[in-house]
Amino acid sequence: EFRNIGFIGLGNMGSRMANNLIGAGYNLSVHDINMGALKIFSDKGASVKETPAELAESSDVVITMLPSSSNVINVYTGSKGLLHNESAKRPHIFIDSSTIDPQTSRKVSALVSNCLTTETKESREKPMMLDAPVSGGVLAAEAGTLTFMIGGPEEAYAAAKPIFLAMGKNIVYCGGPGNGSAAKICNNLALSVSMLGISEALALGQSLGMSATTLTKIFNSSSARCWSSDSYNPVPGVMGGVPSSQNYEGGFAAKLMAKDLSLASLSAKEVGFKCPLTSQAQEIFSKLCEDGHANKDFSCVFRHFYSGKDE
Ligand code: NAD
Repeated sequence: EFRNIGFIGLGNMGSRMANNLIGAGYNLSVHDINMGALKIFSDKGASVKETPAELAESSDVVITMLPSSSNVINVYTGSKGLLHNESAKRPHIFIDSSTIDPQTSRKVSALVSNCLTTETKESREKPMMLDAPVSGGVLAAEAGTLTFMIGGPEEAYAAAKPIFLAMGKNIVYCGGPGNGSAAKICNNLALSVSMLGISEALALGQSLGMSATTLTKIFNSSSARCWSSDSYNPVPGVMGGVPSSQNYEGGFAAKLMAKDLSLASLSAKEVGFKCPLTSQAQEIFSKLCEDGHANKDFSCVFRHFYSGKDE
């Protein structure tokens, strides 16, 4: 059983996930480029490491929770990166929970499998890599109820399952390397399109004289029902406790949706797959960000794209 975990990326999500690992009794080593985040964790008894390479030396399992693909590549392959650890001691499993494109996940996974030097190759088992992005946002990260979508060797998934369960509730094995990342970006692509469809239909309905509340009731008992209509309705006042009723504060930022859509389009391009709705959704969410709504919840597309009203 693995007890020593190294955690890199103590931001909005990572700090909460790392807290839950401490709560579950794991020994934590941490690294981040933000000194403030490190101080908080050293005060909690975690051991602070100056470089990813140093963190790798003292960890059975390493978890990264970084903003984007380029950060993940740097942290793995940089001159003091996770894979440049000179000592014979290496982590058994590398887990990347960042939302990145599946092609990058596959590239990093191949680098991990090939990282042993020839001297150590025979004496040590090969390290394994899992891509394990999450859905649920900061509230689920805090409550330890995240959903993990996992790609990589099934053996590594089984061995790391107790660690995932310390941070999440639904742990879904998706298949080989990159499949976790593929699942994550496909989920968010479908979500963006459903949110746009519901927003467009409710905005048109209002222009034709329908009340959004009545139209939503109809959707929710008809074939248009979906999460964007019945759990996260984008029209202010239709539902309580959702971002649309709190001036679109909190929730899932439009800029994160724009980022996930650009990952989906990039991945589609690489495999020569046509995704007209992804391209259109990406354009709309990028425009929202340019217009100054990058940090608002993505359901603000209803107000700022379809109704054209200012805040
Ligand atoms: P964040 O920006 O709050 O945190 C990222 C952390 O990584 C920061 O502490 C930063 O200092 C650190 N970092 C960046 N580059 C580094 C480097 N080279 N070395 C060491 N540390 C480095 O981001 P977040 O909101 O925690 O999101 C992390 C990932 O999770 C993203 O890929 C995001 O898309 C995904 N995600 C976020 C949410 C959400 O609601 N916030 C939900 C699901 C998935």
